[in-house]
Amino acid sequence: MNHYDSSKIADLLDSTHGYKLTDIAEEADILLLNTCSIRDKVQEKVFHQLGRWRILKNNNPNLIIVVGGCVASQEGSRILDRANYVDIIFGPQTLHRLPDMINKVRINRSPVIDISFPEIEKFDHLPEPRANGPTAFVSIMEGCNKYCSFCIVPYTRGDEVSRPCEDILLEIKKLAEQNVREIHLLGHNVNAYRGIRRKQGGICTFSELIRLVAAISGIDRIRFTTSHPIEFTDDLIDVYRDTPELVSFVHLPVQSGSDRILNLMKRAYTVVEYKSIIRKLYNARPSIQISSDFIVGFPGETQEDFDKTMNLISEINFDISFSFIYSARPGTPAAKMIDLVSNEEKKHRLYILQKQISQQVMQFSRSMQGTVQRILVEGISRSKDNIMNLSGRTENNRVVNFLGKLDMIGKFVDVEIIDVYSNSLRGVLISSAENKILSA
Ligand code: SAM
Repeated sequence: MNHYDSSKIADLLDSTHGYKLTDIAEEADILLLNTCSIRDKVQEKVFHQLGRWRILKNNNPNLIIVVGGCVASQEGSRILDRANYVDIIFGPQTLHRLPDMINKVRINRSPVIDISFPEIEKFDHLPEPRANGPTAFVSIMEGCNKYCSFCIVPYTRGDEVSRPCEDILLEIKKLAEQNVREIHLLGHNVNAYRGIRRKQGGICTFSELIRLVAAISGIDRIRFTTSHPIEFTDDLIDVYRDTPELVSFVHLPVQSGSDRILNLMKRAYTVVEYKSIIRKLYNARPSIQISSDFIVGFPGETQEDFDKTMNLISEINFDISFSFIYSARPGTPAAKMIDLVSNEEKKHRLYILQKQISQQVMQFSRSMQGTVQRILVEGISRSKDNIMNLSGRTENNRVVNFLGKLDMIGKFVDVEIIDVYSNSLRGVLISSAENKILSA
């Protein structure tokens, strides 16, 4: 989500003020940090970076320093208490107002803060979508109403708000015209999507939206992040039955394998309910691979709770997943819970969990050796002696490097997997699969 917001900010400042991105901080007129506050380590990094930028501002008083995103939303004017040289503080929902804020700072030379939550207005004020390669992120909804006891998102991003259905489809059509082949639908809980249909009236659900996106000419692969188990309804599972454009890979965060912890987390489902969704998904799409997020060391997590998570990991056979040590976030209910698990123990549990997941990921990768995989070629990974080493992604999100021609970039090709490494696969070209993709 932050990557998406950052690219929109870059497009916006280019289209309104003609600003271009630079890798050299000393050359910049504006230094902008788009921040995340999901865990406290990330938040501390913000202040370390600001400290480094302060030196640049001492040398160049016209430099404008901006803090955006969820740390800005969470801390607001308190950022100025620690870094009074910051000029602009804006939240994730007001990034479209940045050009005005910059003008105000230039005129008044005093800090501007806007961390309000205007209803999804930002999407109406963003420039035309610009493709940057054959895959593109498209935000369909923002915010969260679930209020899991550990999570800061509802406080920093606000309630769930869905973009109107036609706006999303128009954005995707424009991206398809720029040769985008894969769309990654984004939202904090994409399956909570309820977008109004401006033309025909009524509400478009997430499952309907996926079918409409799949029908757009040129869009041959659809991914989404992130969904929540409580709204993973049967109509969404049915899409896996009849929509080949939707990849056989789903990221469905379970967080813990213990009902006691899930209850304390306020996740509103049990392990059995989660497993029932997975069973239905396998029925609809036998080849599907499941990915998850896990939190270890949630306040009160016992060895028994952790063992249940490990059992679930083996039972579901999760693929590539994300795991974190619980981090207390200000203002969340879990931050007030008594936490008796030592840091050492939390680190140990994370190590055990990640080791198990890595083994499972490697097993999945090894099982791909000798198979033919359809990959979307994203770019050059290396070139030597006029031979291009290209790189693309499989449906199950693995990077495959192979020797190919430049004109394959942006297209689907079939490769046979001949080697497996920890972070990538090696393939050899079988044939160009362009135009055959929808026959699957
Ligand atoms: N829709 C997702 C879900 O089902 O919860 C929300 C994704 S959340 C933005 C990204 C992940 O960050 C969560 O799934 C969780 O594993 C992790 N996370 C959130 N708050 C955390 C915290 N306080 N400490 C550690 N990890 C956290």
